[in-house]
Amino acid sequence: MNIILMGPPGAGKGTQAKLLEQTRGLKQLSTGDMLRAEIAAQSPLGQKVKAIMDSGALVSDEIMIEMISARIDQPDCAKGFILDGFPRTVIQAQALDVMLHQKGKDLNAVIQLSVDENALLARIEKRVAEGGTIRADDNAETLKKRLEAYRAQTAPILPYYEGKGMLQTVDGMAGIDAVTAKISGILDGEEAAA
Ligand code: ADP
Repeated sequence: MNIILMGPPGAGKGTQAKLLEQTRGLKQLSTGDMLRAEIAAQSPLGQKVKAIMDSGALVSDEIMIEMISARIDQPDCAKGFILDGFPRTVIQAQALDVMLHQKGKDLNAVIQLSVDENALLARIEKRVAEGGTIRADDNAETLKKRLEAYRAQTAPILPYYEGKGMLQTVDGMAGIDAVTAKISGILDGEEAAA
């Protein structure tokens, strides 16, 4: 089963993806984590994308499409994967369709975590205060940029998947367990239909 988790920064995609990894044996593919690993390793790619990421802007479609295409071919994705942070533009969404088709794979569900934007800032501030994951882009100013990028470049993907009848929306403001239960229900339904 291959799924996409969508939602603005701080919506809880990563939290839910990790839970799905444990319960369903799917592989979480977080493009944000993959890029941060490149930066930590000081690879040529990491050096190229660091300033862009720190500013809250998006890395080029070309780089991201190539990165995901190569990642999906790895054996740990054979049972299925959860895309977290990709696709982030309509071009990426279209490229994903083409690449999955070429690889003989399918997309089973696109799940959107809908959230109140005002609550997102509070979540990120809490994340920083708790010292859990302090990221170069976890601050109020950059979050605003990331939200703008989401609205302008990523939200237009929603009608794209809606038009294909694939989009399912879950209330991301509910508690973690309630969100997990809703997602599980959707995936059980998809499995039964398959
Ligand atoms: P968020 O918490 O905003 O969901 P991520 O960890 O998914 O953040 O991504 C952090 C940054 O990595 C983004 O702001 C962007 O610069 C870059 N990035 C991640 N995925 C993509 C993508 N699919 N296309 C373009 N840029 C991306």
